[in-house]
Amino acid sequence: MQLLLMGPPGAGKGTQAVKLVEKFKIPQISTGDMFRAAVKAGTELGKKAKACMESGKLVPDEVTIGIVRERLSQDDCKGGFILDGFPRNVEQAKALEKILDELNLKLTKVLNIHVPAADLIERAVGRRVCKNCGATYHVKFNAPKVENVCDNCGENLYQRADDNEETMKNRLSVYEESTRPLIDYYEKIGLYTEIDGRQPIDKVTEELENVLYSVKE
Ligand code: ADP
Ligand code: AMP
Repeated sequence: MQLLLMGPPGAGKGTQAVKLVEKFKIPQISTGDMFRAAVKAGTELGKKAKACMESGKLVPDEVTIGIVRERLSQDDCKGGFILDGFPRNVEQAKALEKILDELNLKLTKVLNIHVPAADLIERAVGRRVCKNCGATYHVKFNAPKVENVCDNCGENLYQRADDNEETMKNRLSVYEESTRPLIDYYEKIGLYTEIDGRQPIDKVTEELENVLYSVKE
């Protein structure tokens, strides 16, 4: 299955992708995670991405499309994958089509996690991420058992630099302008399904899985 997990920042894409990875044994490809790893490692890619990420803008298309092309060409993507956070505009969606054509693949399904804008700032500002394993928590909606400590590996949690109210407002306006038009784009292609992301995490997972089971049959 070649899946695309869409939704505004903070909708729960990463949270759900981890569960789908476990269930369907296909890798999660998160451009945001790839950029954060590059920033941490201080690579050329990280240098190109850092300022855009800090201000909430999109990293330039040529950079982003390049890393996705390289990643999707790797062997572990041959049996399917879950794209999380890419594409984020129509240019990236067109580039994705081209990359998939080159690899002789097609998208199986586009799943959009819908959460109203009013909820998204609280989701992002309360998000905490494990420094070691990347597990995602929320101080109120998905709190770890011990405050600030990862349930999985015991490491400390941190708050992403872009998870503050000001940057989140920029990210939401970038979403409205550049990413929301993709809903129409994928509806026209006929691959699109929307899930209500305001439900509890497990319920969202259940609905996503049900859609995917019906695709597999
Ligand atoms: P995205 O990858 O779309 O930016 P995340 O998966 O990181 O979003 O989730 C953003 C924040 O919202 C995290 O703190 C996460 O724990 C929390 N969250 C995710 N899904 C839900 C949900 N269904 N209800 C409440 N909070 C959620
Ligand atoms: P995310 O982890 O998906 O919330 O992404 C964090 C930040 O990484 C975004 O605000 C962008 O600056 C950058 N980013 C992630 N994915 C993309 C993409 N597909 N295109 C451009 N920039 C991206």
